[in-house]
Amino acid sequence: MKSPKCILVVGGAGYIGSHMVWLLGQKGVDVVTLDNLSSGHRDAVLHGQFVLGDIADRLILDKVFGEHKFDAVMHFASFIQVGESVLDPAKYYQNNVVNTLNLLNAMRAHGVDKFIFSSTAAIFGEPEYVPIGEAHPQSPINPYGWSKRMVEQVLADYDRAYNLKSVCLRYFNAAGAHPDGLLGERHDPETHLIPLVLQAASGQRPHITVFGRDYDTPDGTCIRDYIHILDLAEAHWLALQHLQSGGETRAYNLGNGNGYSVNEVIETARRITGRAIPVQEGQRREGDPARLVADAGKIQQELGWQPIYADLNTIVKHVWHWEALNS
Ligand code: UDP
Repeated sequence: MKSPKCILVVGGAGYIGSHMVWLLGQKGVDVVTLDNLSSGHRDAVLHGQFVLGDIADRLILDKVFGEHKFDAVMHFASFIQVGESVLDPAKYYQNNVVNTLNLLNAMRAHGVDKFIFSSTAAIFGEPEYVPIGEAHPQSPINPYGWSKRMVEQVLADYDRAYNLKSVCLRYFNAAGAHPDGLLGERHDPETHLIPLVLQAASGQRPHITVFGRDYDTPDGTCIRDYIHILDLAEAHWLALQHLQSGGETRAYNLGNGNGYSVNEVIETARRITGRAIPVQEGQRREGDPARLVADAGKIQQELGWQPIYADLNTIVKHVWHWEALNS
């Protein structure tokens, strides 16, 4: 394999992107991060060069591609809130689809032909069965899921027509933080369960609201597949190696294959923090399926991916460490 020398990480100042930039640094790869800081943090970029800019801006893209010779582009810059995507689909289609097209077309113009894309379990919609493998029917139920589904289609067509090779990684629930407390999740507003539960444990929030206890699951709360952020970053590294070795376009589902309920997350957090975590009962959140669990067998077999931090205790411990350092 020709080892990669320089990678463009779009959205490298965000939660997932910043862990990826750090990992690429560990692997000895040069990085340019392009981020508009709409939700990312400049101080989360721990390696390489930082460029403030938006992928909607073709002039910035031409400048960055003109100044560097990239082996590949990793694209983490997207809007991710399902509820907001229903209320403001224009925002989601503009950024997640149109601006991604702008990025892909700049890549074509500058002869960069490898792309790693952050996709999502939301492309499957309401699951017909779990665990969800790649063969599961794709039927998104919100504009966020559709925006990612559309880009996956674009990538399949760009491969056929322009020989642009890509790997789509369909994340289930990205969670956890850097084990040494270097990086973690800093969304504003925070909507994700694990940071919210731990902020309730530390007293930064008065309680955690459980969105529904009447689901068809053993304890009535929703089940999700939480995948550690560094396991997720490692999957991108393997995807990059696959493309560097001349590998074909692929799409993989990426989760641990373990489902944990909202209740189990709260109980785990109580055990690990030793704190009381006040719970408030809430209504179901619209568009929340009862269970989302990945079958990640394909990426395990084809790329040799294996999660190192698959245990929920470890994921929660790392987030608690991060929260303790940052509250
Ligand atoms: N959830 C909850 N209370 C919260 C936030 C989330 O009960 O304050 C539940 C949510 O309904 C879902 C699970 O926790 O079943 C994970 O939600 P999150 O927003 O973290 O990720 P998503 O599954 O939506 O990608």
